[in-house]
Amino acid sequence: MDLYTIPVKNVRGVGTQKTEELLLIGIQTVAQLIEYYPFRYEDYQLRDLTEVKNGEKITVQGTIYSEPLLQMYGKTKSRLTCKVVVENFFVTAVWFNRHFLKDKLKLGQEIILTGKWDQGRRHLSVSESEFPGQGTTRIGTLQPVYSVAGPITQQWMRKTMMQAFSQFGEMIEENLPQDLKLKHNFLPRKQAIYHIHHPVDITEGKHARARVVYEEFFFFQLKIQAYRALSRSKAEGSAFAVDLPAVRAFVRALPFVLTDSQKHVIGEIMHDLQQPYSMNRLLQGDVGSGKTIVAAVALFAVIRTGAQGALMVPTEILAEQHYRSLTRLFEPYGISVGLLTGSLTERIRRGIISSLQTGELQILIGTHALIQEDVYFHNLGLVVIDEQHRFGVQQRSILRRKGLHPDVLTMTATPIPRTLAITAYGDMDVSSLRELPKGRKPIRTYSVNHNMLERVLGFISREVLAGRQAYLICPLIEESEKVDVQNAMDLHAQLTQHFPDFRVGLLHGRLPTVEKDHVMREFSENKIQVLVSTTVIEVGVDVPNATIMVVYDAQRFGLSQLHQLRGRVGRGEHASYCILIAEAKSEVSKERLKVMTETNDGFEIARRDLELRGPGDYFGTKQSGLPEFRLADLVSDFEVLELARDDVAELLMRTDFWTGLEYLAFRQFLQREQIFGEGLID
Ligand code: ADP
Ligand code: MG
Repeated sequence: MDLYTIPVKNVRGVGTQKTEELLLIGIQTVAQLIEYYPFRYEDYQLRDLTEVKNGEKITVQGTIYSEPLLQMYGKTKSRLTCKVVVENFFVTAVWFNRHFLKDKLKLGQEIILTGKWDQGRRHLSVSESEFPGQGTTRIGTLQPVYSVAGPITQQWMRKTMMQAFSQFGEMIEENLPQDLKLKHNFLPRKQAIYHIHHPVDITEGKHARARVVYEEFFFFQLKIQAYRALSRSKAEGSAFAVDLPAVRAFVRALPFVLTDSQKHVIGEIMHDLQQPYSMNRLLQGDVGSGKTIVAAVALFAVIRTGAQGALMVPTEILAEQHYRSLTRLFEPYGISVGLLTGSLTERIRRGIISSLQTGELQILIGTHALIQEDVYFHNLGLVVIDEQHRFGVQQRSILRRKGLHPDVLTMTATPIPRTLAITAYGDMDVSSLRELPKGRKPIRTYSVNHNMLERVLGFISREVLAGRQAYLICPLIEESEKVDVQNAMDLHAQLTQHFPDFRVGLLHGRLPTVEKDHVMREFSENKIQVLVSTTVIEVGVDVPNATIMVVYDAQRFGLSQLHQLRGRVGRGEHASYCILIAEAKSEVSKERLKVMTETNDGFEIARRDLELRGPGDYFGTKQSGLPEFRLADLVSDFEVLELARDDVAELLMRTDFWTGLEYLAFRQFLQREQIFGEGLID
């Protein structure tokens, strides 16, 4: 029997009713109850009134100095006041709707008051009061505040938690390796958990918390690192016999010289491809850093060994674009490239699928259409997923399963701050493109009001006359009664009139695919100079001649989205501009615009975004695979995460971890978590 299996109803005071209510907040076992940590503490430490700021919530002790005064408003509303001497000050204590207390307030009596301090009027708006010496007192303590609501009250939770400790506290077992516990000078687990619920003071609470945060990260890291170590040792992937000289020749024939970053990452990938384990690598690089070509080189290397490659992207526009550029790139080598999207005719689709199955088609590019059930590869060796954050874990793994342990390269242009990368992608190797191709000029970003519109249009006109192109992004496709923001259809009509000498194109998600492709192609060939669009062009689109990005109602977009949009320009040798037209109302949206004008660095933006939004929101979806911790906070506890990661890495290198008796519990944990396949543990 351990705490993880003892049902919570075994705690005295938890009846059938409460068992059900606890279930609603995810508590079924005693362990789950004990690990339901408070998110803050109510501070009942006595305070010195001279140090208290206006509006603070405080606890003080004093003597009742005046007769209580009661004013009633209607039947239930009331205001009760009396003067209390605290140290040498007079304080007016005020209770709302507590008329029944009047008879208890006696002159000369000691009283403990907790409430909000109004410095100007020297009022204490009392939320809790008690008389010293009557039973247990909260005074001098930090009381835990739990995330509870409805029928479960704070008081009940506190009482039940204490009860659980007195019944089961002794059963809380140590779960960290002894040497790590000593190394970091951690409290024993039992004590740490108790102190989190009932710290004597803040310092002690922090010390206890540090241990539990570490522990959460430790087991998380243990899982992913052990998984990786084992899957590598299983070596189920293919060790491709990469023809390195051919790859080098391919790279030399490119129309540009690769950046050092690109070369380095390609080196890492070539190494992985030749190993018997399946590569699982994330390539992150800022918008415009040139990820596509890295993927192309990897695909080339694998195709040359006789296997097939797949490239999955989130939008049809992007699929089309990759299809065009890779076809151009691979044609001279006789490599066949196919395109599979949701909007092909059934006849064409059949053709592609069958040539894929025979192996005649070597590279398949496409959208989600790639993971449909009837798509079979002959011999899928490499899976590339572009803009991977747009796909769920599920979708990524379906594509992977279309091959026999294929190598996987995922790419993202939304750089994940380092904090999140090692958590979210702990089971991947991470490569980064840290530089942009040479000759790029930094994009200049301006945040302006609507009344600058004329000047913005004048600027576009001059740039187009100089041979460049512009994007104008609207939050909406067409006019809406609900929100007053710019829509693409209206803007397109206006600009068509405003720029009689230029061609103004319109792009949005509701256009039929053929039409979208057509518009995009015309824009990339500069047959369209000004493109009015919704965010359908947000990711991946690459037209190096475009130098202006105007975003209407920019306050409606998130930071990473704005950065992605801005990344559509600045892709060639010309100076580029991003103009954010916005009426920022909230502080957060003002801050976002400020960040945009201050930096072009995607990593920095991701970091600021994380700060503004918090990690929970960062990935948007639960599907992201980002784990949830009970206590640990990915942002503020990052250093602990790194610590745990390094400790685990060291631990896994030791032979006795895999064989020694003292580590049996950890191996059993890994087995419970299904990290071990059959036969891997004895
Ligand atoms: P992203 O990383 O945003 O996907 P792309 O792969 O679309 O970036 O590349 C952006 C542009 O830079 C493309 O036009 C591409 O051809 C070009 N490019 C990539 N690598 C280099 C390089 N080393 N030198 C010059 N241009 C490059
Ligand atoms: Mg890209």
